[in-house]
Amino acid sequence: SDSHFPVPISPCHVDYSLHYPQLFPSSDQTVHSKKIQFADIGCGFGGLLISLSTLFPDTLMIGMELRDKVTEYVKERILALRVENPGQYQNVSVVRTNSMKYIPNYFEKGQLSKMFFLFPDPHFKEKNHRRRVISPHLLDEYAYALCTGGIIYTITDVEELGEWMKACLEGHPMFEALRDEELEADPVVKLLSSATEEGQKVARNGGQTFQAVYRRVVPSL
Ligand code: SAM
Repeated sequence: SDSHFPVPISPCHVDYSLHYPQLFPSSDQTVHSKKIQFADIGCGFGGLLISLSTLFPDTLMIGMELRDKVTEYVKERILALRVENPGQYQNVSVVRTNSMKYIPNYFEKGQLSKMFFLFPDPHFKEKNHRRRVISPHLLDEYAYALCTGGIIYTITDVEELGEWMKACLEGHPMFEALRDEELEADPVVKLLSSATEEGQKVARNGGQTFQAVYRRVVPSL
């Protein structure tokens, strides 16, 4: 249960020295010159983060994962990459947490420029829709954490869930869809399937995917 992992009481209590020790050698710094900008929600085994780490070497990023063993695996994976590639992978980390409860404890208003929800659990039954990581209510929280112009990336192989995520985003006043040419030009879009473990599995089985990529906007009155 939640009591087994510590939760920072506010974003300035997130200890960057634990996550990015080479970049933040001391823990007594509460105001950081640089903040986490990308969050991979339900990061699983961390494939996307590993790819993003070298694609955006100057951006701090974190995976949020509920399962303890999976989180430990990702930690070990990052540590091994840091040892094998001195100076690289210093900008990527992972934390075990329940993202549906604790996003505001980690990120302040407008802090994030990208959020990822890749192959989230579908929760098929109607009564379980409230457990979905994209919902009208949670989109309010994500809109708060994202900066204006920040992007939310979603993808799934479950058509019904894809429609649900798109409908939630479409119906929210603070999100607008990226145009086709913007999707084409964004190198991150290609990684949604190719870099994630789930995406690779779906591709191996020849499955279809459904993506929705939206920008955080200021609602027009
Ligand atoms: N995004 C990864 C990928 O595409 O390979 C993993 C997808 S996996 C199907 C969904 C992941 O979300 C699981 O690892 C699960 O433990 C995690 N998860 C589910 N609910 C969560 C929550 N409330 N907070 C954080 N992680 C969660």
